[in-house]
Amino acid sequence: QLLPLGAVGALLAVAGGIWLSRRRLSLRSELATAVRRREFRMHYQPIIELDTGICVGAEALVRWTRADGTQVRPDLFIPVAEETGLIEPLTDHVMDLVLGDMRELLIHDRSAHIAINLSAGDVSSGRALKVLTGKLIGTGIHPQQIWLEATERGILDIQAARTSLAAARRAGHCVAIDDFGVGYSSLQYLQQLPLDALKIDKSFIDSIGTHSATSPVTSHIIDMARTLGLFTVAEGIETSAQLAYLQSRQVEFGQGWLFSRPLPAAEFIAYHEHRRSQYGEAPEDMQNPNT
Ligand code: C2E
Ligand code: MG
Ligand code: MG
Ligand code: MG
Repeated sequence: QLLPLGAVGALLAVAGGIWLSRRRLSLRSELATAVRRREFRMHYQPIIELDTGICVGAEALVRWTRADGTQVRPDLFIPVAEETGLIEPLTDHVMDLVLGDMRELLIHDRSAHIAINLSAGDVSSGRALKVLTGKLIGTGIHPQQIWLEATERGILDIQAARTSLAAARRAGHCVAIDDFGVGYSSLQYLQQLPLDALKIDKSFIDSIGTHSATSPVTSHIIDMARTLGLFTVAEGIETSAQLAYLQSRQVEFGQGWLFSRPLPAAEFIAYHEHRRSQYGEAPEDMQNPNT
């Protein structure tokens, strides 16, 4: 006797659901172990000043390689870390890795910056910032050389975020809102946060056409940043047509595969040196082009 098709579908759906939640469960416990064992490294994606071609620094992006050599994408494990409280030790570890990898470069080149990604929880609690301030003491790295990227995704307590970001700016860091436009953000929301920069999400860069067909939303985001006195960083630039458009709109900085993929520390340092000999060094006071 065959089961009716509907019942088979239902069974498959239940089995699939169980399989998914078990996978999620195992990712949780695996991640806990990985955090304990510090199985992470950083890659660095060059950030370029678009009108000069100068490399002004990099965004630090975390990488997790399992013991068996397979990689887990941050898009997958960062949300799990956020749900489980593992984000706190992970963020601390990321900071240690960045300061270790980049100390020499940052002391040697005062015009260079590294951007660190913070989760909403890191921002709201203010803890990550205190930890960073402590870690910077005695390194010789200036707080101005560390940019912070705060994602709006998951920021629930805007008052807490405001307090913590204001403290970050007072400490000398440059604060950027990441993935702008993909969440529930609005001008109203943006206006309430003490920010220096807005990162234009890759999805808006993707929509830049080869002709004049560029999405009006992308154009509006650039206008919005300017109205608010923020400088802009475009992420995910892949084509020279996209670059040309962004240059024509005076977007200050950008990153993407057109320039470079995220690189291991040593490769980024080599890239930065090479680019500096080609295009020159950024002026030292460029950490906040608005001032
Ligand atoms: P994000 O901060 O918006 O980072 C930009 C993402 O776009 C990175 O993905 C980067 O590799 C990718 N990307 C850059 N240029 C291009 C391009 O031209 N083409 C394409 N297709 N992709 C490009 P990644 O490294 O997989 O990171 C994903 C997200 O995970 C990040 O998005 C960030 O939200 C989060 N993340 C990464 N590292 C950290 C970290 O250390 N801490 C925290 N809290 N989150 C992190
Ligand atoms: Mg980012
Ligand atoms: Mg981003
Ligand atoms: Mg993004």
